[in-house]
Amino acid sequence: MVKPLVAGNWKMNGSRDAVDTLVAEVAAGLAADRAIDCEVLVCPPSVYLERTIAACGEAIAVGAQNAEWRDAGAFTGEIALDMIRDCGARYVLVGHSERREYYGETDEVVASKMAACISKGLRPILCVGEKLVERTAGQARAVIERQVAAVADRLGDVLFAQADIAYEPVWAIGTGETASPQQANEAHGWIRNLAGSAASDLRILYGGSVNAGNAAELLQEDNLDGALVGGASLKSAGFLTICKAASGA
Ligand code: PGA
Repeated sequence: MVKPLVAGNWKMNGSRDAVDTLVAEVAAGLAADRAIDCEVLVCPPSVYLERTIAACGEAIAVGAQNAEWRDAGAFTGEIALDMIRDCGARYVLVGHSERREYYGETDEVVASKMAACISKGLRPILCVGEKLVERTAGQARAVIERQVAAVADRLGDVLFAQADIAYEPVWAIGTGETASPQQANEAHGWIRNLAGSAASDLRILYGGSVNAGNAAELLQEDNLDGALVGGASLKSAGFLTICKAASGA
């Protein structure tokens, strides 16, 4: 049994004050509720990484939402993995659909970022998922398998041993529409199937409009090992409820 992970992706939201308040509330909630025994991760905007890490202490892991895969040099505006690690972060989201859609990240770039994270000792969370037109056309499985294979071809079994994977159907992100528990479980099964002998150790998160009201129903599915939470991670009460649901409490 892998330890479930609930990851909050704050996206481009927050301020110094908001970070302080949110982290303090989540930390207090975790300390007060011994029934929560999942791993908890938050991914703030990079400029708040150090502040968030200082506030989080040991109970909450911190990750970056994105990183450049090249080591250093003339890449204006980018942030290197060494810098992220230097700040004390442990995780990196890689290939989020917003990065793929708005910033042109290809499967190849995503594979480079995954490889670089692992070589730097950071744990990447590979985000995959199909668009609505692809699901409607019956291509969901092929798209997901292509996105995972692009990385597995580069990294081999290291992908499944040293990374987590998040299944996030694009049509469910920020829309209020979630995949049904059955749809999510099926897609997670497709991904797990690719992991071969590492399948039972692979942690697969579901993301896409997860909230306090639907988390328990989603997370009771066998193939769901946690959640990647966007909007609902910005309010402590809902986020803590999702953490509790992931803990099976
Ligand atoms: P959402 O975002 O929970 O707001 O749908 C999830 C994500 O993009 O990781």
